[in-house]
Amino acid sequence: MKIIKTASETRAHIESLRAKGKSVGFVPTMGALHNGHLSLVRMAKKENDICIASIFVNPTQFDDASDLAKYPRTIDKDAQMLEREQCDVLFSPTVDEIYPSGTDVNADYDFGHLETTLEGAYRKNHFSGVGQVVARLLEIAYPNRLYLGQKDYQQCAILTYLVDELLKIDVEVKMCPIIREADGLAMSSRNARLTPQQRKDAVSLSESLQLAKTFYPIKTPQEIITQAKELLNSKQSTQTIDYFAIVDQRTLHPIETWEESAHPIALVAVRYEGVRLIDNMMIV
Ligand code: AMP
Repeated sequence: MKIIKTASETRAHIESLRAKGKSVGFVPTMGALHNGHLSLVRMAKKENDICIASIFVNPTQFDDASDLAKYPRTIDKDAQMLEREQCDVLFSPTVDEIYPSGTDVNADYDFGHLETTLEGAYRKNHFSGVGQVVARLLEIAYPNRLYLGQKDYQQCAILTYLVDELLKIDVEVKMCPIIREADGLAMSSRNARLTPQQRKDAVSLSESLQLAKTFYPIKTPQEIITQAKELLNSKQSTQTIDYFAIVDQRTLHPIETWEESAHPIALVAVRYEGVRLIDNMMIV
């Protein structure tokens, strides 16, 4: 695996591969890799000649300085894991390499409702940071396909809109399924920060989402939301439910009746004393 730290060298390398007719799949990550990330690498390897992954903890998408500071950084272990998956290129830049003019210069993308709802309501400027970094990474990695995890469903919606409607570039966005632990908890680098009790109770996120699938369409969305919140609140650990929502998969608008959406999805965000977890499940 070729490890490259500069934007110019990465772009030149990928350009030379594409000039030879090779297809390129790109997996952007913030590192602290686990099986969820590796599933994207495997998919990118399967569907393309070349797989490029990036590891960059993007400061502009964190509204909370302590969350940024606490974000795990395990670059050597990550590189070994990528090597084992036969990833071809790892791009691991510095902040200056990504933001040569500084992090204050904000790309002003307008994602409308997609960026103000759900996560957007709890993480100020998060999605403008995500849009900013992915636009820059796409310019450097110059891929045919972009691999994203359904784990961050709203991020997938935002980035599909960025690629198709704002940048209008010829990149295919591929959303890959959520990889879970044996008990159903969605894999996340944040899981390691949970106490044993919190880790045990965190299974309630996927259980609450499962309720939506079980009771669709017998109960109304609101009845399911109430029941899901009761389940989340029944656990021992101190926690705050930021949201449990049932929305349309495309517009992310909340629905009150099943007639309002042919493809609803349930999404949840819970905070365990400083560790914030998210998960989602498509209902239909
Ligand atoms: P992150 O490093 O958290 O920015 O994640 C990088 C990519 O991996 C994103 O597209 C995530 O949605 C994806 N991802 C993270 N966790 C999982 C998971 N458990 N299953 C599938 N994809 C995931």
